[in-house]
Order: sequence, then structure tokens, then C-alpha cells
Amino acid sequence: STSLKQLLNKSRQKLGSSLSSLLLGEKEINEDLLETLETLLITADIGINTTDKILESVRKNASRKTLKDTESLYQFLKDTLDKLLIEDNQLKTNINETFVILIVGVNGAGKTTLIGKLAKSFQNQGKSIMLAAGDTFRAAAVEQLKIWGERNQIPVIAQTTGADSASVIFDAYQSAQAKNIDILIADTAGRLHTQDNLMQELAKIKRVIAKQNADAPHETMLVIDGSSGQNAINQAREFNKAVVLSGISITKLDGTAKGGVLFAIADELNLPIRYIGVGEGIDDLKVFQSKEFINALFD
Ligand code: GDP
Repeated sequence: STSLKQLLNKSRQKLGSSLSSLLLGEKEINEDLLETLETLLITADIGINTTDKILESVRKNASRKTLKDTESLYQFLKDTLDKLLIEDNQLKTNINETFVILIVGVNGAGKTTLIGKLAKSFQNQGKSIMLAAGDTFRAAAVEQLKIWGERNQIPVIAQTTGADSASVIFDAYQSAQAKNIDILIADTAGRLHTQDNLMQELAKIKRVIAKQNADAPHETMLVIDGSSGQNAINQAREFNKAVVLSGISITKLDGTAKGGVLFAIADELNLPIRYIGVGEGIDDLKVFQSKEFINALFD
């Protein structure tokens, strides 16, 4: 199978390879070099805020002489990026009740694809799964989920288009609890008439589930398209304000040079990255492992 290194090749060129051409070899750490470094990080979609933070810490260490040469600067940057990522990213779904995963994100981000891949992988681990077709705004979304569920022997709770999303998900949760389902994955709308409507609806869904069980949803996961670069950071901020996220999955990291955005998102939102999407196939959803990700971008 294709290695993560190959799949992330464009981002690797933009970040790891650019950093090694800038820093490896005998060079002096001076203001010119630091300015070039700053531009490089911003160009690699690390984001302005995170880049500022990194540069500040580089300058501090350079003036204290703890960073003596560009080779140690290269290593320092790699470690700094690594530290921006939360180490334990994995969902802990083994609980004594139905684990509820609420999936949020704009249309086209890859929610449906992720739900399918996730359900399959949980099923392969021997878990019972149920899906809730909470994107009641799009008839096609409900149909797609139902067909997929039938094909994979996974029950899908759905109502007609236009039904109240919170009530669909609430019904699904009651049914999942009654049937002792291990994991309920609920889809939600990615677009309503206005952005405000969407955020209010998501907040309502969370309230309705939490009324049933204060611990639920156990995971509120944002799915974002990594190839949208800086726009992905804005989306993450906005969703987090409206619904309080507990994890983020970033799709479409294959074929984009904007993979550095993952660091900006992890840093600004201080949330674990759960999964990354590196293709459209069933095996292309990976449990996110920070070390593996860093190595794929650098080594
Ligand atoms: P939704 O509107 O959020 O449900 O998005 P979909 O799951 O329908 O995905 C939108 C498009 O992106 C589809 O064509 C998917 O095949 C594609 N897609 C989803 N995830 C990935 C990924 O990780 N890599 C690539 N290359 N395409 C993806």
C-alpha cells in the first residue's frame, strides 16, 4: 500500500523539504534567515498565529544560544510542531453504554465518506453500529446513508426530508440504547438557509441528546477539508464556538500541499486530531498518529 509519506508528498515538499533546503548545511542563524523561515511556515499553511508563536520561541532560544546552528534549528522546529499535537488522539469508545459520535462539518468536507469508513472499521472490530441520518436538509444525504447501511448490514435511523434533525437523532439514540448498540454515529446538516440556523440546529441537537444522558454526545467531531487551507481554520473556530468540539478529523490530505494546516488547527483549538483522510477508498481513513504524521512530513 502507498505509504503516508507518499500520500502526503505535496505537503512534505512544502514543509519538510523546504525546511531542510533552508536549514540543513552550514548556515548562520540571522534575521534574514528567520524572515525566510517565517514566510516558509506561513506558505506551508501553519497559519499566522502559530507561526508567530514558533518564531518567538525560535528567537528566544537563538538569543540564549541554546540554538547554535541551523541543523539544531531544523530539529527544534520538528519537535515544536510535534508538541503542538496532542499525543493521545484516539477515541475511547469502550464504555458501558452506547457511545454517541456526532459528526459536524460543512457539505463536501467528507462527512458521509468518513461515517462509512468509520462504521466499517468499528464493525470490523466486532462492535455493533447504528447510524442516524441527521442531515434532514438534503434528501440525497439521507438516501445515500440508507443505501450504504443496507449494503453493509448497518441499521440507519431516518425520517423524511425536512424532519427535525434533533428529533431524528434523539429517536436514534433511544433505539440504540434499547438495542444495546455499542456506537451510534449521527450525521448532521452541513448547510441550512443560513449559517446561524445551522449553528443553532447543531446546538439544539447537543442539548436534546444531553438531556437524555449528560455524558452524551461522547464525541462531537468536526470534519474539515484540509485542502481548503486557511479556510479550514476559520471553519474550525466557528464550529467550536457554536457546539464545543471534542475532536477534529481532517480529510483530503492526499493531493494537497496545505497539510500544514493540521498544526494550525491543533494549536489554535487545542483539540485532538482523530482521523485523517488520505483518499476516497475504504482504507484511506487513518487513525491519526502524531509521530507517524511528523515523520511522513519530515524524514
Ligand atoms: P459530505 O458532503 O461532507 O458528506 O462529503 P462526502 O463524504 O460526500 O465527500 C465529498 C467528496 O470528497 C466525495 O467525492 C468524496 O469521495 C471526497 N473525499 C472524501 N474524503 C476524501 C479524502 O480523504 N481524500 C480525497 N481525495 N477525497 C475525499
